[in-house]
Amino acid sequence: MNNFDAYKKSKNILENFLQEKISKYNQYRNFDYGPNYPHKAVSGLSPYISKGIIKEEYILDKINDSKNSSEKFIQEVLWRTYWKGWLERHKEVWLDYKNSFKLELDSIYHSELAEKYDQAINGKTKLEPYDEWINQLKNTGYLHNHARMWFASIWIHYFGLPWQLGAKLFYDHLLDADIASNTLSWRWVAGLQTEGKKYIANSHNIMKFSLSRFKSFNLPKLVSKDIPFKKYTLNDINYNNDFTLDPNKKNAFLVVENNLDINFIKQHKDNIFIVLLLETSNSRNNLSSISKTFQSSCNTDFINLCKQYNINIEKVDISKCFNQFLKILKEENIFNTYSDYVTIGFEKDIVTRLVTSLKNHNISYNFFLSNFYKEVWSYCNKGFFNFKKSFDKFYHI
Ligand SMILES: Cc1cc2nc3c(=O)[nH]c(=O)nc-3n(C[C@H](O)[C@H](O)[C@H](O)COP(=O)(O)OP(=O)(O)OC[C@H]3O[C@@H](n4cnc5c(N)ncnc54)[C@H](O)[C@@H]3O)c2cc1C
Repeated sequence: MNNFDAYKKSKNILENFLQEKISKYNQYRNFDYGPNYPHKAVSGLSPYISKGIIKEEYILDKINDSKNSSEKFIQEVLWRTYWKGWLERHKEVWLDYKNSFKLELDSIYHSELAEKYDQAINGKTKLEPYDEWINQLKNTGYLHNHARMWFASIWIHYFGLPWQLGAKLFYDHLLDADIASNTLSWRWVAGLQTEGKKYIANSHNIMKFSLSRFKSFNLPKLVSKDIPFKKYTLNDINYNNDFTLDPNKKNAFLVVENNLDINFIKQHKDNIFIVLLLETSNSRNNLSSISKTFQSSCNTDFINLCKQYNINIEKVDISKCFNQFLKILKEENIFNTYSDYVTIGFEKDIVTRLVTSLKNHNISYNFFLSNFYKEVWSYCNKGFFNFKKSFDKFYHI
């Protein structure tokens, strides 16, 4: 077996999907075939996309070159791009999420919802579909998109539980955990993304799209609790990042665990003295063991791939402190660091503190954002369909 499996595997999955499944995607993508056939009609690419191992632009280019295509699939890939850009343009949503998550977690066990919460996180609700989904989530790290929507809807609108705790539960267990797609999808189900629009699951839809797999079940009574809607202001992103790696200096390139992209590094390897893989996942105490194992195997694959290209690479855990990281820079006499743009989420929270520490040690830091995201995120100021229209003008498929 090769040591950089994740990279090969993601390309094989895409190739196979383009040959075998994409033409039927539109027709069958909404069906959840259950834990034994999780990717029967969908690609299963999300864990690799979420770790930055395969990029949206690469996928779109491959679709362009393929004789088979699907407008719906392109649209779904773009939902991910859109959610990322939307969160980048509405940073306050992330701050509010973190604050409200803490408050909800602190109070849930002292509230009337304590028992329901306990049953919901342990798959003991006696609502057959829900208990199956939570077991699948915990055992495999994956749920079909439709099951995620039903799960979130039942959690919020039928069990009356705080959406923030559900989002965190997903984030800790999904192999494709992505702050933007996850947080904003939960907000969408709760009715917080589009004013007046929430997603209410119903038994008929669940029965139909899970191919009547569940025996008859009754959803509990809807909880009529409106979550206050907050309008967020649009923020700019600092795009002023046209830098070059100074060939006369010793440059360190920093890589975070949710963006294990090798392409920029390969192109600029002559000007990179060392790549430092910054491990941050140890700061997330509730991360499931399968998520930890998946992250660690992706990290290993990234390291092995760098070695294969003769790139000097070291991993360093920055989840608790920066001492080891600063020691490496000091020992190697490195005063210039660079990274790909780090997107909003737990990684960025730590990297932001790291950058302050770099400044205090007179070490420069610059980031790079690819032209693709630079362009398309500028359209993430309104709704998805507005974004898609602008995208179609920019990128011809
Ligand atoms: C409550 C909820 C939470 C979610 N949390 C995450 C998450 O943490 N990480 C994540 O990657 N996706 C998340 N999604 C989106 C979606 O469910 C998954 O991306 C999809 O199920 C992954 O399976 P796939 O790769 O087989 O998808 P496919 O149908 O093959 O789609 C291809 C790719 O398009 C993107 N995509 C597809 N559907 C969506 C969508 N609705 N929103 C955003 N991108 C999409 C994904 O990158 C996916 O890999 C969430 C959806 C909901 C409703």
